[in-house]
Amino acid sequence: MQLDHDIEEEIAAARDHIRRAVLAAFCGVLRTTRFQPMTVLSFAAMAVGSIYREIADTHCDGQGCPCGWEPCGAADIDALLTALATTAQLRPEIDLRLVKAAGKA
Ligand SMILES: [Zn+2]
Repeated sequence: MQLDHDIEEEIAAARDHIRRAVLAAFCGVLRTTRFQPMTVLSFAAMAVGSIYREIADTHCDGQGCPCGWEPCGAADIDALLTALATTAQLRPEIDLRLVKAAGKA
């Protein structure tokens, strides 16, 4: 179905966009500091957690956003942890040319 295909493409494009932004930030921090990769990755995970908190808070006050999303605290955090764990265990097809273009890794 075309609609499903369009949504799948939109999801893939959004994921790729965010991944490239985080990878560029990771490589930039790694290149300009003495932090180890795992430390910098922890900063990225902390950024996601703090962004979740900030966005969830704006949806809890009843006046922040009209989209209708209702944060579910523990369930949302479980979903984020699952996303992190499952993708960390996957071995994506890494294009080292992109990593080198974004900085050292
Ligand atoms: Zn919203």
